[in-house]
Amino acid sequence: MAIHAGEPRSRAYDSITTPIVQASTYTFANTVAVVDHHEGRIEREEYGRYGNPTVRIAEAKLAALESGNDPEVSALLCSSGMNAVTMTLLAMLPTGSHLVLTDDCYRRTRDFVRTLLVRLGVQHTIVPACDYEAMEAAIRAETRLILSESPTNPYLRVLDLPRLVAIARRHRLKTLIDATFATPYNIRPLHAGVDLVVHSATKYLGGHNDLMAGVIIGREGIISALRDMQGILGGVCDPNSAYLLLRGLKTFALRMERHNQNGLAVARFLSEHPRVLRVHYPGLPTHPDHAIATAQMRGWGGVVSFEVDGDLETTSRLVDSLRLPYIAPSLGGVESMVVQPSLMSFYELTTEERLHVGIRDNLVRLACGIEDTEDLIADLAQALEQLERTC
Ligand SMILES: *Cc1c(COP(=O)(O)O)cnc(C)c1O
Repeated sequence: MAIHAGEPRSRAYDSITTPIVQASTYTFANTVAVVDHHEGRIEREEYGRYGNPTVRIAEAKLAALESGNDPEVSALLCSSGMNAVTMTLLAMLPTGSHLVLTDDCYRRTRDFVRTLLVRLGVQHTIVPACDYEAMEAAIRAETRLILSESPTNPYLRVLDLPRLVAIARRHRLKTLIDATFATPYNIRPLHAGVDLVVHSATKYLGGHNDLMAGVIIGREGIISALRDMQGILGGVCDPNSAYLLLRGLKTFALRMERHNQNGLAVARFLSEHPRVLRVHYPGLPTHPDHAIATAQMRGWGGVVSFEVDGDLETTSRLVDSLRLPYIAPSLGGVESMVVQPSLMSFYELTTEERLHVGIRDNLVRLACGIEDTEDLIADLAQALEQLERTC
């Protein structure tokens, strides 16, 4: 499906690849054609902000991957993952409404909820990820939506999606899952009854660290309303990024298989190393959500978070000793990437403030790429060995 879904068998100029339609607007032969377009008698493009053929094919592929070819499910590509998240929240939450979201979440999502949504008169309650009693207790008469990531970042908590959906249905709420860390290869929230799924396509879906895009996937009615909203807000995906995304998706299944394999192997290796205090990875039996993650996911992805036996400086030394992963704030690409969250996304906070949001100085987030598994482990082994020598 990653290779063929969404792609018409015959294309312009008999090209085997989907052409990049680099156009900001589309021409009409005459005024009758304009009227036919408005009346829906012909299917065609009108203007770049309302749609683009390359973008539409990427959307069709993503909808198929997420839903397993359900014709009632559509996808909307956006300029970035954050644009997908913020636009969905703007659309779902009228002034005076309330949102429940889980705590271990993407920093900018939390920032949006706490700063901009509050300004628009939308209230929220943050509950601990996987605390379903707290989640249900937070629901008010004004609550419209429950938002969570799964797996979460950086502790990789995995939500029990049927349980989340049951709570939402009891209170007639919509559910939104940011499944960037899982991708449709590992988890299918729509099949569990979740209403909307968002992904940062910048990560695993694109897979090569060369594009920014986001996607929202759900039932056609709700996606069509979001598409109209995008026509106003303007956060469209450009045709070049859509092409790169299509190109990256061709190898999606192969890449995910290796990301899953590397994540698990690295997590197992780290969990047995004396200089590592704790490893957070849903594939390990020690992870609090291991049973749910095993039941609901095909694999557990490439991101492994772990705590080094040492302080901020010792942890930085480990990160600096790694030769394969780049120090960079992203994940999901073919190259492994590593960050010490206290020096990256949470740098401007004090140690106390970081502890309050659960970020310890000795925490490392390693996003395994698709390098050879043994090469990655050998690199970690040499970096950890250097710690032994210097302490
Ligand atoms: C990266 C990321 C985002 C934001 O996506 P961008 O494409 O960087 O805007 C949102 N949610 C999660 C879980 C992410 O990892």
